[in-house]
Amino acid sequence: MTSAREYYDQTFGFLQQHHRLFREAVPLIASENVPSPAVREALVTDFGNRYAEGWPEERVYAGCVYIDRVELLCIELMKKLFKAEFVDVRPISGVMSNLVLYTAFTDPGDVMMALPIPCGGHISTGKKKFGGTAGAVRDLVVEYLALDHKELNIDVDRTKERVKKLVEKGKAPKLVMFGASVFPFPHPVRELADTFRDVGATVAYDAAHVAGLIAGGCFQDPLREGADVVTLSTHKTLFGPQHGGVLSWDRYADRIKRATFPGLSSNHHLHAVAGVAIACAELLEFGKEYVKQVVRNAKALGQALFERSFDVLAEHKGFTESHVVLVDITKYGDGGTIEGELEKANVILNRNLLPWDIKAGRHFMHPGGIRLGTSEVTRLGMKENEMAEIAEFMKRVVIDKEDVNKVKKDVVEFRRGFQKVHFCFENMTEAYKYVKIR
Ligand SMILES: *Cc1c(COP(=O)(O)O)cnc(C)c1O
Repeated sequence: MTSAREYYDQTFGFLQQHHRLFREAVPLIASENVPSPAVREALVTDFGNRYAEGWPEERVYAGCVYIDRVELLCIELMKKLFKAEFVDVRPISGVMSNLVLYTAFTDPGDVMMALPIPCGGHISTGKKKFGGTAGAVRDLVVEYLALDHKELNIDVDRTKERVKKLVEKGKAPKLVMFGASVFPFPHPVRELADTFRDVGATVAYDAAHVAGLIAGGCFQDPLREGADVVTLSTHKTLFGPQHGGVLSWDRYADRIKRATFPGLSSNHHLHAVAGVAIACAELLEFGKEYVKQVVRNAKALGQALFERSFDVLAEHKGFTESHVVLVDITKYGDGGTIEGELEKANVILNRNLLPWDIKAGRHFMHPGGIRLGTSEVTRLGMKENEMAEIAEFMKRVVIDKEDVNKVKKDVVEFRRGFQKVHFCFENMTEAYKYVKIR
């Protein structure tokens, strides 16, 4: 029988092994990043044990004096980074931020437009029949924006057609959601905002993936291009702890605040809010430099894979303008199997549906693509030369079918030189060092 102490020790054992894995692997999951030691310090503070329901300085709990100061700093920093009039940093994740948006700006039964999942859309904008948050939780009727498969971007003309048809059928959209989980090129917000506004829709932008790029001034600026509201994850290209946030204009402040609390939160993970404040201060100082290198690395990774015979999408446009690269892997297998083979060599990335996969009879477990992101490797100090080395590791596994253990040994060796977090004020502690405070 397993004793309590054994359960306890086993849990810590696995945590330590996980840290070792990430010390020795190439982390290419586009939705992930590594926070600075400063952010990790914030996460272990007592803030994580407290409640602070309500708005700073209007709480309904005692003991919030410093929590209020930190939350106000976090709001101020986000306002600066995103040039936003109004910021709510309480939603605890990107999905919850989207649910705040649905609650504030729609009623159940309303029509919403977003990209479908095979075209890069996220489960939080999914239809009811797929269990997506928009459909299954808020009861919105999800209609799709049109994607140009070759350009890997929203097709402006075909989307306008679809809006017109929906209006004719008496199903005018009440909300449009730009943004995606496969998001290589800036979406045509400016080109389509009026089309949606004219039919009475709120224009929203899901910046979960690209928040860091926007803050660093390197992608697009949705609030200036016509967005009424922007939702965030704070841990993808923005390198904070896992959390959410909503950016908007003062005229929408009251309904967003109310949707967040009492609507969708009680405690709002105050240690994470502190971590987001720290990450935002780092981004304010180092963001421009960081995002430029993230995008340079993504382009370099796309090019290096392309030169090694991988079918990297959007070659005619330089592969990407963000942190994300999408590869059609069907020449060599399916995305699920390839993901598994690469993982054995300590190259961590994920399988991904391609826009045409469903029609081709492929499934999300075994899709035709893999998705790569360069935020975390950039944070570790890697540059264009390292992207070529990573592409070579991938070629050895996927194309040359070399022994994965042999490649893994070289990956571990390669990773030795990249153990510190860059683009932050202090990095005394290594990126994945297991910190013991027991
Ligand atoms: C990751 C993601 C989210 C949700 O993020 P969480 O913070 O994990 O809840 C929402 N929308 C898009 C487009 C995403 O890629």
